[in-house]
Amino acid sequence: MRGNHVARKAGWDTHGLPVEIEVEKRIETDFGIRTAKQQIEKIGVERFNEMCRESVWRYKNDWESLSERIGYWLDYSDPYITYSNDYIESVWWALATMFRRGRLYRGHKVLPYCARCGTTLSSHEVAQGYKDVKDPSAFVALDLVDEKTVGRRRILVWTTTPWTLVSNVALAVSPSLEYVEVRKRKSEASETLILALSRVAAVLGDDFADRWETIRSFRGKELVGKRYKRPLDWVPYKEGKHEIIVGEDFVSAEEGTGVVHMAPAFGADDYAAGQRNGLAFLQPVDLRGEFPPDMPLVGGKFVKDADPVIIEELKRRGVLFKAAAFEHAYPHCWRCETPLLYYARTSWFIRTTEFKDSMLVRNSRVDWHPPEVGAGRFGEWLTNNIDWAVSRDRYWGTPLPIWVCDRDSSHAEAIGGYAELEERAGKSLGDSFDPHKPFIDRYSWQCSCGGTMTRTPEVIDAWFDSGSMPFAQWHFPFENKEKFERYYPADFIAEGIDQTRGWFYSLLAIATGLGDALPNNLLLHEMNLGAEKKSEGGASGNAVDTAPYRSVVVNDLVLDAEGQKMSKRLGNIINPNTVIPRYGADAVRLFLTTSSQIWTPRRFDEAGIRDTAGRFLLTFKNVYTGIFAEYANFGWSPSESDPKVKDRPLLDRWILSRLATVEREANEMLNRYEATNAAKAVMTFFDEDVSKWYVRQSRHRFYDVDGEDNRAAFATLHEILVVTCRLLAPFAPFITDWVHRELTGKSVHLTPYTRAVAAEADTDVDLERAMSHVRTLATLGRAAREDAGVKVRQPLSRMVCVVPLHGVVPVGAEKSTNALLDQLSPLLAAELNLKKIEFITSADDLVTLKARPNFRALGKKFGKATPLAAEAVQALSSEALRDFEAGKPLYVSVENESREVSADDLAIIRTAAGDLAVKEEAGYFAALDPKVTRELRLEGLAREVVSRIQRLRKELGFAVSDRVTLSVAGDAEILEAVKAFQQWIANEVLAVKVSVGEKNETHATHTFDLDGQSVQVALARVG
Ligand SMILES: [Zn+2]
Ligand SMILES: [Zn+2]
Repeated sequence: MRGNHVARKAGWDTHGLPVEIEVEKRIETDFGIRTAKQQIEKIGVERFNEMCRESVWRYKNDWESLSERIGYWLDYSDPYITYSNDYIESVWWALATMFRRGRLYRGHKVLPYCARCGTTLSSHEVAQGYKDVKDPSAFVALDLVDEKTVGRRRILVWTTTPWTLVSNVALAVSPSLEYVEVRKRKSEASETLILALSRVAAVLGDDFADRWETIRSFRGKELVGKRYKRPLDWVPYKEGKHEIIVGEDFVSAEEGTGVVHMAPAFGADDYAAGQRNGLAFLQPVDLRGEFPPDMPLVGGKFVKDADPVIIEELKRRGVLFKAAAFEHAYPHCWRCETPLLYYARTSWFIRTTEFKDSMLVRNSRVDWHPPEVGAGRFGEWLTNNIDWAVSRDRYWGTPLPIWVCDRDSSHAEAIGGYAELEERAGKSLGDSFDPHKPFIDRYSWQCSCGGTMTRTPEVIDAWFDSGSMPFAQWHFPFENKEKFERYYPADFIAEGIDQTRGWFYSLLAIATGLGDALPNNLLLHEMNLGAEKKSEGGASGNAVDTAPYRSVVVNDLVLDAEGQKMSKRLGNIINPNTVIPRYGADAVRLFLTTSSQIWTPRRFDEAGIRDTAGRFLLTFKNVYTGIFAEYANFGWSPSESDPKVKDRPLLDRWILSRLATVEREANEMLNRYEATNAAKAVMTFFDEDVSKWYVRQSRHRFYDVDGEDNRAAFATLHEILVVTCRLLAPFAPFITDWVHRELTGKSVHLTPYTRAVAAEADTDVDLERAMSHVRTLATLGRAAREDAGVKVRQPLSRMVCVVPLHGVVPVGAEKSTNALLDQLSPLLAAELNLKKIEFITSADDLVTLKARPNFRALGKKFGKATPLAAEAVQALSSEALRDFEAGKPLYVSVENESREVSADDLAIIRTAAGDLAVKEEAGYFAALDPKVTRELRLEGLAREVVSRIQRLRKELGFAVSDRVTLSVAGDAEILEAVKAFQQWIANEVLAVKVSVGEKNETHATHTFDLDGQSVQVALARVG
C-alpha cells in the first residue's frame, strides 16, 4: 500500500530446549521414563533428534491456519527453518568468524545451571525465569578456633542455600565494615557472637539490647586470616586453603550478618574469591544436581531437597543459631521451571563485554517504541552485560563448530562452512549430510601436533539461532549476498516486551560481534574510510551507525479481563480459535490495536471486543449497506457528471476536508509507528464525523439518485467509504477488502494507502473549524432544549449563539468564520428544529455574572477595609468575571490600592437574561427561546402525526416508495394542524390524497394518542 516491497518470509525456530522438553514429555508419557537426559543417551541421540525434528511440525497446521484466519500475512511456501543445513551453515560461519576474531572462547565459570535439563543457561535466559519462592533462611554460628581466649567465640553466618554448606571452604568479611562481638546477658557461659554492627537489630531483634550486651566493636580486617570450624565435614579437603576468614569487598551489610559463607563451586563471587585467595574447591554435586550416593544423610538427594535434612543436622550439631522461611525471587529454568543452581562448569562464551560499548552506541541509534524500553530496560541490560554463555550440553541444536585436539586443548579450530569441513575431513560430505548430533561428531582429523581433532560436544543456545536470522535466512554469505545487502538492516521489528533480554538482545549482540563481516554494519567511529567511500553509502544514509534494526515496536502482554497474566495453571488462557469465530478477526484485531497503546499491558475482555471494535465495525458496515448500498446502488455510479467538489454543499466539502485531514494524520502516525493512534483517529472520524453528523444531516439527500444534490451526496459518501477502507485496511483487512471491492471492484490491499492528490489541497481548515463550532452549539442547544422540557419534534422559533473567537479562531479570521457560521446555520437550525439561528458577539446580554463576596476570606486580606472590598467585589462586571474564569488575574481597588483577589474570595452567580434557556461551555453560548406559539404548536403536532404515520407504514409492510391515500380524523386541534400542514404531510408520507375530518369506512383505522388528544388514521396503498 505504500509502494514498498516487504519480503514476507516466514520462519520456523526449530532448535533448543522448548522442542527437547516437549519430546522428553512425550517419552515420559509413552515410556514412563522420568530422568530424561540420562535416558536420551540410552534411546540414542539419533533417535531423539529424529523425534525433535518431527515434533517441530506438530503445530505447523495450527499456526498456518491461525495466521490465515487473522490475516497475518506471511509466505509459508518458502520459509527459513533453523534446523536446515543452509541455516546451520550460516550460523557456523558467524560462530567461526567470532572465534577467529577472539570473540568466542572457552572458560571455567560458575553459571546458572538447570539440573533437570542438564545444561547451563545464559544470563538472558535466567532473566526470563525469576519466580517468588520460599527458601530456608538459616543462621549458623561457627566456632573460631586457635583462640587464646577462655570462652567460646562464634561468628554468625547467613545462607538461603543450606545445601552449599556441605562445600564450605571459607568465610568472607568486609575489611572496612564495622563488626561487633556481643554476649547474652544473664548467661553463665562465657560465649560470644560476632556479626556486622549494622545487622545486629535485624538479626537479634530490635530489642536486642535487653538481651545482649556489646563487648567491643572493630573493623572486619581484624577477622581476616582467623580460622574457624566448618559446619559439616562430609567432604575431605584436598589442595587449597580452607576454614579461613578472607577479606572481600563484595561483602555488604545489606542483608544477612555481614559474614558470607564461601562455596567456590556454587557462586560467582565465591569462585572469584577462591581464585584470589587460593581456596580449596569442593564440588560434591553431580550434573543432575544430586549429592554422591555415599554421602551421609543426603546421599543421592537433589540438593534443594536436601535443605531440610541439613538444617536438622546443623541443629543436632549445635551450630544452627536460628532458621526460618524466606521469600525471595529465585531464578528458575525458563522452560522446565526447575530451580537453577549456580554451578562451576566449563563452557563456551561470546566475549560480549569486549564490544559492549559498541552495542550501547548502536542501541542509542535505534528508534524504540516506546522509547523508555530502549533507554531503560534494554539499555540497562546492556550496561550490565556479561559474556554470553553460548554452549549447551544438549542434543537438538546447532552443533558448536569447534574441533579441539585431544593432546592439547589449546589447539582448537572453528569450521565456518561445509566446504571447510570437507577439506579438513578430507572427504565429501555427500547428499545426505546432516550437521546435527550424533553424525557431526564422527568427523575428526589429525592435529598438526599429531593428536586427534574432535568436535567439542556442545550445541549452542537456540537464541543464537534466532539472532542469526537476518543473514541465516538468506544463507549468507554462501548465497544471496546482494539480496541480504539490500534487506539489511531491517527497517523495523516487532516483538513482546519479554524479548528485550531475548531476541532483541541476540540480534544486537551477534550483529555487533560480527562487525564488518556483515554489510552496512559498521559504526562510523569503527570505520576508517575516505570521504568519497562514505558518500557511496547509499541514498538512505543509514548504511552506517545502525543496529540490525532501525526501529522496534515492543508490545506488552495480553492479560485476562481481571489483569492477571494468562497461564495454564490459572486456567485463564483465551484460545484465539474460540474468540475469533465469535467476533470476527477484524474485531479482535481492532480491539487489540486500539484498546490501549500496544506497549502497555492489555486486559483481554470479550465484552470489550463487542462494545468497542465490534460496535464500530457494525456502524461502518451499516453506513455502507444501510445507506450507500440501499440507495446509491439503484442507479448511481461515480461519473464525470457528478458535481465537482467545489460545487457541492458545504456539508460535503466539510466531510471531504475532514477525510483529507484524517488521511494525512493516519499516514503520519503510521510513519511514526503509532498504530494505536492511527487506527483510533480513523475510527473516531468515521464514528463521530461520518456516521453521527454527515450521514445524519444528509439522510434526506439519499432517497433520490437523480438530483444534483443527491449525486453530490452519493459521490461524497462513495469517496469517504473508499478512502476509509484504505485507511483501515491494515487494521481490519477483511471487511475493508469486501467493502472496497464492492465499491471499486479492486482489492483494498492492492491500492495506495493515501490518494495521489496532495492531501492538503482538499483540506479547508476554516470550514472544519466552523463546523466544529456548529457541532458544539448543537450539543449545547440539545441540552438547553432538555432544560426547557421541549421535545425535539416541537419546532421552536430561535436560538441565539455566541462563539468565542478569541483564542479559538486565528487572528484575522473572524470575518471568514462569521461568514461560514452564517452559511452553516441552516444545518444547526435543522438539527435542533429551529426556525432561526442568530449569532451575536458577546454573551453579556444573555447571561449576567455577579460576584458574591466571601467575607471570611476577604477579611483575612483586607482587615478593617473588608466592607469596602466586598462592595468592590459586588461591583465587578460580567466581562471582568468571565476573564477571571478564563484564568486572568482579577483586581479590586480599595482605598486607592489595587489588590488581587482569588477564587476563594468570591462566588460567581449566573443569571440568564429574559426567558431564554441558556447553556454555556468554554465560551460557547446557546440561548434557546422556549416559547411555543400557536403556530409552532400546530407544526409540532403535524410532525408528530407524520412520525406516527411513518411508523404505521412500516408496520403495515409498505415499501419505502409505495404511494398511499390517507384520512385523518380526531380532536379539533389535531385537525387544525393537519389542515395547516396538509401539503407538507402529503409529501413526507407519499400520500396522493389526504382527507381530513372524515371517518374512513373502507380501510382499517388506527387510533393513537398525541399529547392527550385522540387521532384516527386510515392508510391504504395505491395501485
Ligand atoms: Zn530446565
Ligand atoms: Zn594438537
